[in-house]
Amino acid sequence: MQSISRSKIQSLYPVDQQPLYIPPLQYVDWAVLDYFGWVQPSHHVGYVVAPLAGNNDLRGITLQRASSSKEKPRYEMCSWCNHVHPTNGTAMFSMKVRGSDDRKSFGNALCRNLDCSLRIRNLASDPPSYMNETINLANKVQRLQNSIYRWLYRSNCLYET
Ligand SMILES: [Zn+2]
Repeated sequence: MQSISRSKIQSLYPVDQQPLYIPPLQYVDWAVLDYFGWVQPSHHVGYVVAPLAGNNDLRGITLQRASSSKEKPRYEMCSWCNHVHPTNGTAMFSMKVRGSDDRKSFGNALCRNLDCSLRIRNLASDPPSYMNETINLANKVQRLQNSIYRWLYRSNCLYET
């Protein structure tokens, strides 16, 4: 994706979410990102800024984050990028449906640091996926983008109001 400025990111979020925590951007390698995702230091909130296909329109969404249960060690798969992690590699992220007065939400397990783009390119420092896939990177990128689109669509955030 193309690089985005701090002020642009800020402008994607409503006033009641300001001041928004945004990590330092100077070391971000935008060329290997399909979306820009980060987690607040409190660990309870995640943010995703994603470009829409075909133009430079961006959407900024807010996700509630909860650690997945730690009862038994097990493998966990990210529902966006299909990376298979060892225990605690994912977290449960949920999103409110816009226009539902906070009554409706949905969610699923995602890479806990919202770093799917690094996962599908094997750029994360910890182990590669436990499930080997034969599909190529372009298809993985497409699948990731489709997953994000589905979330934008389901939450009524695909189109600006
Ligand atoms: Zn992922």
